[in-house]
Amino acid sequence: MIMESRFRSMSERPKKRKNVCPHCGRKLWLKDFYHYSNGTRSSWCKECQKQNKRDWYNKTRKVPDGIRIDPVTGRKIEHRGLARRIFWDRRMLDDLKRMYATTKNEDLVDIIGVSLRTLIRKARELGLEKDAEWQHNNVMRHQKMASFEARRLGYPGHFKKGEHICQEKEFKPGHIESEETKSKRVASLKKWFIKHPFAAKERGKKMSETKRSKYADKTGTETSLP
Ligand SMILES: [Zn+2]
Repeated sequence: MIMESRFRSMSERPKKRKNVCPHCGRKLWLKDFYHYSNGTRSSWCKECQKQNKRDWYNKTRKVPDGIRIDPVTGRKIEHRGLARRIFWDRRMLDDLKRMYATTKNEDLVDIIGVSLRTLIRKARELGLEKDAEWQHNNVMRHQKMASFEARRLGYPGHFKKGEHICQEKEFKPGHIESEETKSKRVASLKKWFIKHPFAAKERGKKMSETKRSKYADKTGTETSLP
C-alpha cells in the first residue's frame, strides 16, 4: 500500500519565511541570508558572514599598517588597510616639473616610478601642462606613420573607382555655393583654426606651396609654347 503524503507536491508545502542564525541567535527574514546558486541559503546571516570575513582578513594579512621602506623601489611607503601610499621626494618632483612638458607620460612613469594615474593627478595638482608645439609634432608624426601603414596595406578604407555613397549629394562641376552654406563653412573653418593653431600654420604653408607650384607649371607651359 502506498503511503499518501501530506502534500501532493513540493510547491504546495508552506514556505519557510524566517530563519535563526546560529552565530548571533537572531531570527531573521530569509533575505538576510546569502542565496547560493544551488538553491540553498547560508546558515549564518549576512552580517555575521561579513564580520567573519573581515576578522579573518585582519588576522591573516601579510602587510601590517605603518610606514616603511619598500624593498623593491627603495622608497618610503605607507600601508593603511588595503591602501598603499607613496611619498613624493624633492628629486621626483624636480624630475616631474622638468620633463613633464616634453615627455610622454608612459615614459615618465618608468623614470619616476609611480603609476600613470598618480603621475597625472600630481601634474594637475602642480598645474603642469604639455608643451603645445611638442604635442602637435607628436600628432604629425603619428599621422605620418599611419599614412605609411595605410600605403603599405593598399588603402583598405578608401573609395575604389566607381564607388559612391550618394550620387545626388555629390559635388558636380558648375555648382554655385549658396550664401548660407558658405557662411556655415567659413564659421566651422574659423573654429578649427582657433582650436589647432599649429596645424593651421602648416595647412597654410602647404596651400601656398601648391599655389606656387601651380603657378610655376602654368608659366612653365606658357614659356615652352612656341
Ligand atoms: Zn548572525
